[in-house]
Amino acid sequence: MTVLIAGAGIAGLSLGLSLHQVGIPFHIYEAVREIRPLGVGINLQPHATRELFELGLEDALDKIGLRTEEVGYYSKHGREIWREPRGELAGYNWPQFSIHRGGLQMALYDALIARAGDVITMGAAVTGWKASADGVEVNLSDRATGADLGTVAGSVLIAADGINSGIRSTLYSDEGPAVWGGTMMWRGITRGPRFLTGRSMMMAGSKGCKFVAYPIGDTDGGGSLINWIADLALPPDFDWLKQDWNRAGTRADFAPHFKDWDFDWFNVPEIIAQADGIWEFPMVDRNPLPQWSFERVTLLGDAAHAMYPIGSNGASQAIIDARVLARELRDNGIGQYALDTYDSERRAVVNAVVLANRGDGPDKILDIVDARAPIGFDDIETVMPLAERQGFADTYKKIAGMDVEGLNMRVPIIEP
Ligand SMILES: Cc1cc2nc3c(=O)[nH]c(=O)nc-3n(C[C@H](O)[C@H](O)[C@H](O)COP(=O)(O)OP(=O)(O)OC[C@H]3O[C@@H](n4cnc5c(N)ncnc54)[C@H](O)[C@@H]3O)c2cc1C
Repeated sequence: MTVLIAGAGIAGLSLGLSLHQVGIPFHIYEAVREIRPLGVGINLQPHATRELFELGLEDALDKIGLRTEEVGYYSKHGREIWREPRGELAGYNWPQFSIHRGGLQMALYDALIARAGDVITMGAAVTGWKASADGVEVNLSDRATGADLGTVAGSVLIAADGINSGIRSTLYSDEGPAVWGGTMMWRGITRGPRFLTGRSMMMAGSKGCKFVAYPIGDTDGGGSLINWIADLALPPDFDWLKQDWNRAGTRADFAPHFKDWDFDWFNVPEIIAQADGIWEFPMVDRNPLPQWSFERVTLLGDAAHAMYPIGSNGASQAIIDARVLARELRDNGIGQYALDTYDSERRAVVNAVVLANRGDGPDKILDIVDARAPIGFDDIETVMPLAERQGFADTYKKIAGMDVEGLNMRVPIIEP
């Protein structure tokens, strides 16, 4: 009665921890030979940190991330449009975390090994499977050598193999590559001065040219480790290459667009200039699917619903998927019915987040203000009244399942 999981990313590891918590046997197969702390910063919203706290990981998160205190939206001239408290300061019972993606993956990995022991096989990629009425037989291979590693048998197979999921592409053989919407992102981490509260996330500009920054750690001497992202809209025929989390980027490709963005409270050109390294990513997602669960197989995390990194929900939704799936497997037995009930509870909800993010999610406020006041404003109230600005923030939180009252009142997905 083993649950077989393809992928030890945020989704696969969260599922492993949750299955261990509810006493269901499982094994994870991960394609890479070693987990290294790759990626840059991400945000975990309170609906996801709640789940990690209920897995007993509060101290681990505090060691590697920062509790985000506020989010602010600014014009390309650095003028404030909207600013709101976040996490506990906003009334949630749980914080928002700004955190290094690789640090989070390592923390989940370490916790899982400490609790469950030898439950991950590294260097074993899932290459295929055969489902029957009794279970599933999964084929494995070593990507580095091409060696066939044979088959393993289990009750169900969970595809937590990320945005370029091979299991998804077998189930949806006509789908093709991830969908690019016309935006390139350059990302980096810079040791710089603290800005605003020292725990603030800022977004400035608008869809065509945007800068996002937030600290993911403190540095000796009172500064911050600032994670940043510069977005530029490029022509539809731009060759965005394949989506790859580790492709080096070049300053000259984007920095000139931000050369005048020296706000008195934040110096964008300086942050870009001082970065330790720069990575380039196309902003891609996947079309919402009509079905995640098939015979003995289901999709989880980015394999099910890769979304634009807008509104900080990619990893958060993956964690919630894992919790719901673990609960369904516990309550309904390790079989098809549990996969189907997980699909019906999660798919429509997360598909709505994918689509909201395509429409720029909560960042839409920036696009509208920029369109209404392209050369700037003295008083934001004359450009967009308070009630309208509040509306943007509230609507997205409801779609993403993170409105304060709804989350605080909800019973736990799995009782701690
Ligand atoms: C190296 C890396 C860096 C990233 N950096 C960022 C970032 O900086 N910012 C950001 O917002 N998001 C980043 N992401 C994506 C982010 O982690 C996800 O959007 C989110 O956390 C959902 O996680 P996931 O577990 O579904 O997917 P992922 O985190 O992508 O994990 C998928 C895992 O599956 C493994 N895998 C793939 N194919 C197979 C297979 N056939 N068999 C077995 N295992 C397989 C992969 O090696 C990977 O470990 C990164 C992902 C990766 C893999």
